[in-house]
Amino acid sequence: MLEFRIIENAQHEDKLVSTVRNLVKEKVDLEKASIPDDVYGIKRFSRIWNKLEFHAESGCLTVNWGEKRSIVLPKSLVPTYLKTAHENGHGGVHRTKEQLNWAWWPDQMTHIREFVASCSTCLKFKGLDMQKGKPDRQVLYRAKAPWEIMYIDFIQLPRSQTGKNYALTVQCGFSRHFAVYPTARCRAIDAARALMRHILLYDFPKIVSSDQGKHFRNELMEELCKLLGIKQNLHVAF
Ligand SMILES: [Zn+2]
Repeated sequence: MLEFRIIENAQHEDKLVSTVRNLVKEKVDLEKASIPDDVYGIKRFSRIWNKLEFHAESGCLTVNWGEKRSIVLPKSLVPTYLKTAHENGHGGVHRTKEQLNWAWWPDQMTHIREFVASCSTCLKFKGLDMQKGKPDRQVLYRAKAPWEIMYIDFIQLPRSQTGKNYALTVQCGFSRHFAVYPTARCRAIDAARALMRHILLYDFPKIVSSDQGKHFRNELMEELCKLLGIKQNLHVAF
């Protein structure tokens, strides 16, 4: 029950989920609802809109699938539960999803896929240590707090079935948390997109640090960083 209370509280604190809660409470049709300008992503609830209902005992907003139901997990709690579910045995996408069947959030499958693909323990286990041939990680400045500095880099990979040939790697300078985002190519737009995915999944860093490769040193990256209030640090390649 304690966990239900934590999730219910977080649902109230989340701008998007609390808006959805109010609309469901008032039985408003999503098509006819007036959504405040600062609430983003409500369309991603449209597929499950008529399955949304409150769990009587806990007051949590849930998705009723018929035989079972899932709790709507607000964004702030996703990283923790995603990590716990995957690290309980480091299973693949399917097994990680199974452990998270009790929860639902927009883009759940995408997030699970990305999390599993970028788990450094799994990568090491498969003998795919992405940092092989890279300079010693120790040379990277050790940040004093999470999200203070984020190191990004492109690596080339064998082509995947979906035609992805590269990946943007993102590493937190504090926790050394390491994520990999497969991309078709390694242009500025690929770097920007992958970086945005990482930021939306986790948080905004203060500094993004990379080498001076064309895909990092360009107007798009400069504008993106400026817009997000991130300082861009371009160092010479190691
Ligand atoms: Zn893993």
